[in-house]
Amino acid sequence: MEGLLKERIYGMKDWLIEIRREIHMYPELGFEEVKTSRLVSEWLERFGLEVQKGIAGTGVIGLLRGKSPGKTVAIRADMDALPIEEFNQVPYASQIKGKMHACGHDAHVTILLGVARVFSSFRDQVKGNIKWIFQPAEEGGGGGKRMVEEGVLENPHVDAIFGAHVFPQIEIGKVGICEGKALASADRFTIKVIGQSGHAASPHLAKDPILVSGHLITQIHCIVSREVDPLDSAVITIGRVSGGSAFNIIPDEVELLGTVRALSPEIREKMRKRVEEIVRGVTQSFGVEYRFEYEYGYPVLVNEPEMIKLVSSACAKGIGEEKVVEVQPSMGAEDFAFYLEKVPGAFFRLGIRNESKGIVHPYHNSRFDIDEDVLPFGVEMFVRIIDQFLELGMMG
Ligand SMILES: [Zn+2]
Ligand SMILES: [Zn+2]
Repeated sequence: MEGLLKERIYGMKDWLIEIRREIHMYPELGFEEVKTSRLVSEWLERFGLEVQKGIAGTGVIGLLRGKSPGKTVAIRADMDALPIEEFNQVPYASQIKGKMHACGHDAHVTILLGVARVFSSFRDQVKGNIKWIFQPAEEGGGGGKRMVEEGVLENPHVDAIFGAHVFPQIEIGKVGICEGKALASADRFTIKVIGQSGHAASPHLAKDPILVSGHLITQIHCIVSREVDPLDSAVITIGRVSGGSAFNIIPDEVELLGTVRALSPEIREKMRKRVEEIVRGVTQSFGVEYRFEYEYGYPVLVNEPEMIKLVSSACAKGIGEEKVVEVQPSMGAEDFAFYLEKVPGAFFRLGIRNESKGIVHPYHNSRFDIDEDVLPFGVEMFVRIIDQFLELGMMG
């Protein structure tokens, strides 16, 4: 059975590459994945799955009910691309100006379709249910949150969910795992410092929001260095400062935009509170006004220990323990965290790095690409994980 399955998976490599390239050539941004979503639902229907469309806008679900009852396992892919101009000179380069699959979501979609194709031809072997979740807008849009709100983890209730991301830091043929807190929460804040404009030569007749902002920036950066345990992880970055119009004018306002990242909910909350307290205190000391807005983004992604162990052992059975490597937590964020807040599961990495093929560029780079060997490889890993979770005994 195992040999037959592997043959089937690696035998569909050309088909997988074709699908991936089709998606890659026509990238669509978050919540606009109309074409991609149609491609997904058409294939799922062809495979004879129960298909639901139009969830959270362009999201799609496929459901395979097994011959006998059992647990329900879900796997998830994100479908959105990025507003980046592709620099790769390849035949399958993006045909849409200024848009590109520079995060590998085209591969995620393709791999899940491959898994659907496999199980649709081995239906009789399935106990329990397998659910495929294709979501819109992972890149900042929080599509995963909306999918959860629209009930994708129910009917039937999902007992465990698995997701993967291609990963250019590890080599092709390897799987990366991280137990516990694996990816950070990512929030956003806006500070408006409201002073009083005036002549640069008469600062005493004005209230200078630029000087206040300078103090604010310095003090906000002290939170991580002085108030967070050095063994914990947190980041505050102020990514945009805007204000002023000329060298001889003190402006009315300055606006600061920033992000807060943390690997624990407690530190996340503490940083929100401390940023606001500093804004209040510093502006008060200068006698200026402020507005503060804090927007909660993606939560901390926590991999359930039992589930990440299952991923590790299922993958190791196929590729050997030495190819399942531990990766450090990252301060990046993933909206897969919204699913993991509701049901147990795990998020893991699929290596795509291949120096001989020039596949070395990081995510969101205009030269990002994947080693397409990851497509059948990813299918095999998901099939193994599902096989182990549902105890199907198809993979040895
Ligand atoms: Zn990304
Ligand atoms: Zn991504």
